[in-house]
Amino acid sequence: MAGVKKKIAVMTSGGDSPGMNAVVRSVVRMAIYMGCDAFCVYEGYQGLVTGDIRKTEWNDVRGYLSEGGTLIGTARCMEFYERPGRRLAAKNMILNGIDALAICGGDGSLTGADKFRSEWPSLVDELVSMGELKEEQVAPYRHLNIVGLVGSIDNDLSGTDNTIGAASALSRICEMVDYIEATASSHQRAFVIEVMGRHCGYLALMAGVATGADFIFIPEKPRGDNWQQDMTKIVKKHRDLGKRKTIVIIAEGAKDINGNKISSQMVVDLLKDPNGLKLDTRATILGHVQRGGPAVAEDRILATLQGVEAVKTLLEATPESETCFIAITENKIVRKPLMAAVEATQQVAKAIEAQDFTKAMALRDTEFAEMYNCYNLTTTVGQTDSVKLPANKRMRIGFINVGAPAGGMNAAIRAGVAYCLNRGHEPLGIYNGFAGYVRHHDDKPFGAVRQFNWVDVDDWGRKGGSEIGTNRELPEESGMDLVANYIKQDRFDALFLVGGFEAFHAIAQLRKAREQYPELQIPFVLLPATISNNVPGSEYSLGSDTCLNELVEFCDKIKQSASATRRRVFVIETQGGRSGYIATLASLGVGASAVYIPEEGISLSMIVSDIAHLKEVFRNDKGQSRAGRLILVNEKADKLLSAKLIADLIRHEAEERFEARDSIPGHVQQGGVPSPLDRHRAVRLAIRCMEHLEQFGPASTIKNDPMTAAVIGIQGAAVVFTPMETLEADHTDWKNRRPKAAHWRELKDISDILGGRPVYEKPH
Ligand code: ATP
Repeated sequence: MAGVKKKIAVMTSGGDSPGMNAVVRSVVRMAIYMGCDAFCVYEGYQGLVTGDIRKTEWNDVRGYLSEGGTLIGTARCMEFYERPGRRLAAKNMILNGIDALAICGGDGSLTGADKFRSEWPSLVDELVSMGELKEEQVAPYRHLNIVGLVGSIDNDLSGTDNTIGAASALSRICEMVDYIEATASSHQRAFVIEVMGRHCGYLALMAGVATGADFIFIPEKPRGDNWQQDMTKIVKKHRDLGKRKTIVIIAEGAKDINGNKISSQMVVDLLKDPNGLKLDTRATILGHVQRGGPAVAEDRILATLQGVEAVKTLLEATPESETCFIAITENKIVRKPLMAAVEATQQVAKAIEAQDFTKAMALRDTEFAEMYNCYNLTTTVGQTDSVKLPANKRMRIGFINVGAPAGGMNAAIRAGVAYCLNRGHEPLGIYNGFAGYVRHHDDKPFGAVRQFNWVDVDDWGRKGGSEIGTNRELPEESGMDLVANYIKQDRFDALFLVGGFEAFHAIAQLRKAREQYPELQIPFVLLPATISNNVPGSEYSLGSDTCLNELVEFCDKIKQSASATRRRVFVIETQGGRSGYIATLASLGVGASAVYIPEEGISLSMIVSDIAHLKEVFRNDKGQSRAGRLILVNEKADKLLSAKLIADLIRHEAEERFEARDSIPGHVQQGGVPSPLDRHRAVRLAIRCMEHLEQFGPASTIKNDPMTAAVIGIQGAAVVFTPMETLEADHTDWKNRRPKAAHWRELKDISDILGGRPVYEKPH
């Protein structure tokens, strides 16, 4: 096959999921970029069997990113379960010259894919022996390369942390629960909300963590025989604490420990029980709204990056290589053997069937079990003494937000408070950052430090901004002697900081000041929270996902407005400080024609090249460009060349063949309600931070332990704590307030490739 142009086909199969269109766009464009021909198979395996395989060009997938469902169709195909159906599929593939196939679907679709590939040589032989095809026709197609992408809203495939569509489904669920909470609270009602997940409780669990639901039911961890009493006890306890509403989330496949189905109605009846809780209770079955609608930023980006990786996998595959699927572990996209994952997935269903729930939990990824513990920890506050530490191990922990507000800050504080209360620690809020701490410490009646009360913080998970207030001022500006003095006066044993680069800088200052102020010899830990995602030590900051969703939504609307008018280029200015992270990731999520970032700077030759490209695009336009073009510019990409100036230059050069406008979403980017990802990661990472602080104990001697001033972060496939000492010295670009190495830099190249941007000379 050397020298022959490969023909790569992509199809979507099984239940549709948001993000499938992003997969199609990404595979088609990456295949074309790599010099291959791209094809789409319509209606899943049905299209293979009927031969509905169409050559697809670059512009055919324009606008795909913002569409829900799958534009190339999906179907359940009975013929493909049988060998004759697969033989027909093989024939159609060969007749169309397809030699590689990317399939996006659930475990059923991927099982079919693996079977197809393993049978391929014999199917081809059969086609020849039956006289359907000639030897010379099949000769170039003796081997078939297949790669799987997991499209499933349930996140039910083992071996990957996330599947394409799950984030969007979760987002929709959380949005609905948030809406329902408002009416539930008004009427003091209880709601039972049923979500999808026959064998997988991912959506119910994550929604439970993100919304702080009172009780959840998931198939992998069924409730015991006396679940009725357990639920009644917890709900009653929450009501006694003063909660006005009760939310129960139930996966459709919920069962009790004996394998008996637990239905929504059973839960409703229990909550209503005139001899029990007597709650005014309603049930809401969310159904297909969970599947519908456009994909959230996370799904678009995941699908796009996995599509690129899928094409690379297909091009690198040999006849000997195992069939792979594209997975993600924490933040890293990886290839994994397909069948092992499918088998592990099927084992979960079997384990649930056999009531071996320990095995079912173990077969899910490690995050699943951790999230389950997080859920328990944050909903059973103060209900058990068994996890409390002995009195001499309990600590007074100060919670402080530093920097600009970011989605998930409150969820992190809430989770940290819940952890402390369960363990017997004393959590105290320091209001309005270091500035508030020193200036209002002795104010009457409240002061700057306040004991947290669980009922007050319980609904903080879904709140944007910062409930305890945040401020950018650094401890040295506030007065280090005052800070040290107050820390001593308040008898803090540890500080939990949630914030962005200023919070990072604050810990650096506190750590250095320890020599002078022995009262600062307490552990500090930082959970990064900033939309800019520019904190050294982590590839992810709370708030960045919420910001990306806001930006993507904004850009979708702008694009739509352009479609109603004339040919238009929008130049959109993004926030992000001197980090081009959100501009780049948003450009991947919306399919921008170009993105300008501070790490690279802007030169006139770049602009000239991009304008030339736009002119060509509009010249060759056959009507598709009505949807408009987007260029994203980070606010600090260049001192002079602003979004407005760039738009003016484009308009000047366009000579009225097309329009250019600038647009600044501004503080909208800090987000309203935090995204589920920011919320559940906030819970998980905050609890890890508390465990980290706890290991040092009260009034400990910490002088030589670098881990007492640390940053928690997601790095590649792991969650790690890195000492500030290391980060400050080796990994921080202090001048530009960002990490020295940007883990996402290669994503910019992918954005350029898929946006069709011409190669340009990089300024720096
Ligand atoms: P979902 O998670 O939404 O259920 P899925 O991919 O698991 O998605 P299925 O209905 O199981 O959905 O499979 C989709 C299609 O894949 C089937 O209609 C069939 O054409 C093919 N398929 C599934 N399992 C097999 C198999 N074991 N052998 C051959 N083909 C299969």
